[in-house]
Amino acid sequence: MKRENILVPKPRSNFISVQCNQCEEKITVFTHTTTDIVCKACGEVIAVKSGSKAKILGKLLGTLDQ
Ligand SMILES: [Zn+2]
Repeated sequence: MKRENILVPKPRSNFISVQCNQCEEKITVFTHTTTDIVCKACGEVIAVKSGSKAKILGKLLGTLDQ
């Protein structure tokens, strides 16, 4: 008997890569973060928490599938 592949459901929330508008630092952001995200290098706010999905202020580079 051949074992069937079981599809693992993807989680709703994921991680995205965001680039700082000020210094071009790249930061990984959890899309449903409960805290505001600031740039590690210059302190610029790049993502602001909201009720559900965070509002991204920086440049969105793409999603990170893990
Ligand atoms: Zn920065």
